[in-house]
Amino acid sequence: MWLILSNKFEICNDAAVNVLGYTTQEELTSTHPSALSPPLQADGADSFVKAEQMMRTALDKGYHRFEWTHRKKSGEDFPVEVTLTAIPYEGEIGIYCVWRDVSARKKIEDKLIYASDVAEEANMAKSKFLALMSHELRTPLNAVIGFSELLALQALGPLNEKQTSIVTNIHRGGTLLLNLVNDLLDFAKIESGQFDIDIQTVDPCEIVETAISIVQRDVRFNDINLHWSAETKSLRPIKADKFRAVQSMVNLLSNAIKYNESGGNLWVELLEMEKDGFLTISVEDDGCGIKSEDFENIFIAFNRGNQKHSHIEGTGLGLNVTKRLIEAMKGRVRLESTWGVGSTFLVDLPKA
Ligand code: ADP
Repeated sequence: MWLILSNKFEICNDAAVNVLGYTTQEELTSTHPSALSPPLQADGADSFVKAEQMMRTALDKGYHRFEWTHRKKSGEDFPVEVTLTAIPYEGEIGIYCVWRDVSARKKIEDKLIYASDVAEEANMAKSKFLALMSHELRTPLNAVIGFSELLALQALGPLNEKQTSIVTNIHRGGTLLLNLVNDLLDFAKIESGQFDIDIQTVDPCEIVETAISIVQRDVRFNDINLHWSAETKSLRPIKADKFRAVQSMVNLLSNAIKYNESGGNLWVELLEMEKDGFLTISVEDDGCGIKSEDFENIFIAFNRGNQKHSHIEGTGLGLNVTKRLIEAMKGRVRLESTWGVGSTFLVDLPKA
């Protein structure tokens, strides 16, 4: 610490003498203040001009705190944190100055900033790589799926039972892989900020019905009872990206089907929320449910909650992508679930 009176050092303590590399208090207090700082501060400001400003602020406000660069007698510069307090001293207003060497903290901060920049760059590179690879993978995959479907339909000639079974497996495997690649592509695009959202005024029923038509085959295949009532159809339109809203609903519906038993129920409902200007699409199932400790985890990419080791196929990307898409549309996703009883995913989207 030191005390400044009329722009001169009045007194200082031993710590200031030692840190700055002087021998006595007298030697330090008789040194001109300009010798204790480099000509320019870290922000490029002239030290003398800035010191004047800082002291004026302390005198005006009674107190001022800021960072400063000091210069040791040896010529070495180091960062300090300074507090200036205006105090009455022998009939004058003096400035009581306390400063602390923050070199160690600064070094750690610099290292952290560097590490975070490196991590950010690596993350961007990973996302770009994923986006590129996913794109390149889709073309040959579509050929595998298309041709195996043609074969399975026996459009190119009759197949025996064994051949049909093999071709059906090729088709199923190709479709699973394509879903995975599509999820990865979306995830990579969202991660690297390279995806567009085209918000328009859309009919919520159309979104639900399009999504239902896409999962219809799985509904039948898994023997799920789907309840979607037509009475709720006279609803106000919403603001959303139609394609992305349908994609989000397909994700939720597919989960409600695959995490359910054969003969289970799936209820889809549209609810008007008069209060806060949102319309809610509710997707409810009476499947296995989700443990409360997983409510947040399952929205994290690649996290499969309680299904980590299950036989049900999945990547743990669907909910992460869904949540980010809905949030990009200024909506929100909520979850209510009881383990062993069922789950309800609620998607709120802004009304037009
Ligand atoms: P995936 O289904 O590919 O694992 P998601 O991101 O879609 O990935 O879901 C993450 C996890 O959330 C799932 O692995 C599962 O544990 C849980 N989950 C999602 N929807 C349901 C549901 N309707 N019922 C039970 N669990 C669900």
